[in-house]
Amino acid sequence: MLDAERERAGTEFPAAPPDQRPPPRHARTAAWLLAAAATITVVFLTAGPQPLRAPLNLAGFLTGTAAIGYGAWRVAVPADRAPWRHMTAAAGLFLAGLITRIVVPGAAVSPPTPMALLPDVFVVPGYLMAAYAFAGMLRRRRADHDDPAWVDAVLVGAGSAFLAWTYLVAPSIERVGLPLIQFANSFFPVIDVVLVVLVAQLALAGSSRAPALWLFVLGAALLFTGDLLYSIRDGDLAGVPADLVDALYSAAFLLFGAGCVHPSMRTLTQPQQIMVRTLSFTRTALIAAAMLGPVIVAIVEPITGFVDGAVRVLLCSVLILTVLFRVVRSNNSRARAENAIRRRATHDALTDLPNRELLSDTIGAWSGQAVADQQEISLLFLDLDRFKMVNDHWGHQIGDELLCAVAGRLSAHVRSTDLVARIGGDEFVIALAGPSHSILAESVAGRLLALFEQPFPLSVGDVVVSASIGVAKAGGTAEALELIRDADTAMYKAKGSGRNAYALFDTSLREDLKDRMSLEQAFRGALERGELYATYQPIVDLATGEVDGFETLMRWEHPELGFISPLRFIPVAEETGLIVDAGAWLLREAAGCLARWRAQRPPGARALHMSVNVSVRQLRDRDLAVVVREVLAETGLPPDALWLEITESGVMEDIETALATLAELHEIGVVMAVDDFGTGYSSLSYLNRLPVDIVKLDRSFINDVGQHGANESIVRAVLAMARELDLRVVAEGVETELQRDWLRDQACDLAQGWLFGKPLRAAETVLA
Ligand code: C2E
Ligand code: CA
Ligand code: CA
Repeated sequence: MLDAERERAGTEFPAAPPDQRPPPRHARTAAWLLAAAATITVVFLTAGPQPLRAPLNLAGFLTGTAAIGYGAWRVAVPADRAPWRHMTAAAGLFLAGLITRIVVPGAAVSPPTPMALLPDVFVVPGYLMAAYAFAGMLRRRRADHDDPAWVDAVLVGAGSAFLAWTYLVAPSIERVGLPLIQFANSFFPVIDVVLVVLVAQLALAGSSRAPALWLFVLGAALLFTGDLLYSIRDGDLAGVPADLVDALYSAAFLLFGAGCVHPSMRTLTQPQQIMVRTLSFTRTALIAAAMLGPVIVAIVEPITGFVDGAVRVLLCSVLILTVLFRVVRSNNSRARAENAIRRRATHDALTDLPNRELLSDTIGAWSGQAVADQQEISLLFLDLDRFKMVNDHWGHQIGDELLCAVAGRLSAHVRSTDLVARIGGDEFVIALAGPSHSILAESVAGRLLALFEQPFPLSVGDVVVSASIGVAKAGGTAEALELIRDADTAMYKAKGSGRNAYALFDTSLREDLKDRMSLEQAFRGALERGELYATYQPIVDLATGEVDGFETLMRWEHPELGFISPLRFIPVAEETGLIVDAGAWLLREAAGCLARWRAQRPPGARALHMSVNVSVRQLRDRDLAVVVREVLAETGLPPDALWLEITESGVMEDIETALATLAELHEIGVVMAVDDFGTGYSSLSYLNRLPVDIVKLDRSFINDVGQHGANESIVRAVLAMARELDLRVVAEGVETELQRDWLRDQACDLAQGWLFGKPLRAAETVLA
């Protein structure tokens, strides 16, 4: 798979927002200038020279509207523009209402005439549009899920409704005349309450309190006050100067404009992190005010009639019930949060299985019981085979899906008294407690392996994975961590034996592990300390008996540990990744040696090749092709003088990456050989998918050839197939003349083995 494809497959990162260009440079300054203008407007419209007031008022409205429009157009993020457009539309409607009031005769007289209704044709939809805009912001903020904010906003709204009712609606109902206008005017306090609820919710929800938000809150407050005073003036309840009302509206507009232009307005439409917090002082004060205000008013202002009394009772009930609801809710959500926290400490978030801590605790609790009941605790440490491939191939989301599916299947197949835990990425532990019969754990292990024969239905289709299981048991008191580690060690043994298997722990494994660890320690730096060296084993053309080339084999001589077989250190070097550097070093060394040898040979002699082993770990490394190119350039060797040996199981390990690297190497022109052929699986079927030229037949097949051995027919079949695919065959481990002659009779191309020469250092190698 190409890198690009891999990236597409692993869509774990959310795409970057489409447009995150910065807000215009002077937006912040403009916002504060508008806020300042709002203050000046209030002062001028109430105390400034009379002739200037009307134009100033209009100028305030126009500037505010323009600023709102500009904010929607230039400051808002395009994807979040909708609420800001609605806000602009609302401002436009208000402005139309204002102009109507100025232009239409009789629309602005006090006491009002029916003409006063004309501006409302614009203003009422304007209010609705404004409410819609705020609701849109809330939806984008996802603040509507924030329970406490919602409840608190209702509290503030109910408190405001109470005030509006007592001072505006109730008195206006009392009065007679112009019922239509009164009806229209009592609409404003109601919609104001709705606006207050929405803005309060914006202010109370989420974590970010942006300046833009405060500008809105202030603007809304001024609007609300303006409406209050307007209604009072209309109802002729008090001598409120008309200019003060205008000043408040004008200032509110400028503040809204400032809020829309301030860069922090972007945060108002961004989803907010919803947090569980303790009640802040301000919020408590706010709730108290919303509660106490109506109570005080209810006592101070006498009830004027039945309707008034009924509405007040209703509103007070709403207030009290909302507070009650809030207390109950926050109490419950605290309990829920505590439960969730406790569960998170003991359970895995992805699969909801018990985690390592709970597993340890459970083992601890069981082991006390186990001694008394003469029971045995068994642990099955289960690790998915090649889980990394699933993640690499389909992305982490599918990996997670698989883990959940595995968790479900495991849980469904053990007894309810057993414990299934997930203790790491793809590592599960099944803890069994029962009367001592050692067969139990093994039979469970076998059954669990069988569970993996069925594919897992995931969203990308059916996926088959196998698992490796390590089994450890404890008689008497068990140290939980030790037991888990033992099972883990046994699991590694199962993996080592070819996966899809289970293995039982025994103490020798612990020794093995220790050996391996010290070996790893010792191998680190071996290359730098010059403890590695190359040996060369001849590969012979069977038809002529001539040397065709050599295979280089790595050797390690440790000053204290002595000579260590590659069969021991190569797996450690692969696991730790140290093979990448060591392998590159050997490639350079062997290529340099070959170049010298080829130069020494008389003209006309057969051109020797050099065969170098390449491990899976190196194939996964993108640098391999780079190193090969460099080495060829440095030595001047033709690409086909270099053979690279890969094991088929190595290729299968991570076939996508391996194929990409192999294709690149093939392109360079080096010769590819499949090593240890016949020991892996699916050998024949996939050979033609790989760009290989040589097959190295594993020496286990060569052992008994020439003496009517059982493997002769296999060797014949492989040779026939190789001819079919136009591949050359190297027979490995040829030790006797009998084997050599039989292979030559079968037209096997090349052979390698002690019969022709053991691996020797360059200086000891005979080229003939
Ligand atoms: P291999 O690639 O299959 O290498 C052939 C192994 O067979 C070598 O063992 C060689 O000494 C041994 N051999 C050769 N002729 C005969 C014979 O006639 N009879 C018997 N019984 N054995 C014979 P060696 O050197 O111990 O290497 C073991 C394995 O270690 C290699 O198997 C290869 O998988 C790995 N290895 C060795 N060097 C390297 C290396 O530089 N890189 C990597 N990645 N792996 C290496
Ligand atoms: Ca080899
Ligand atoms: Ca081999």
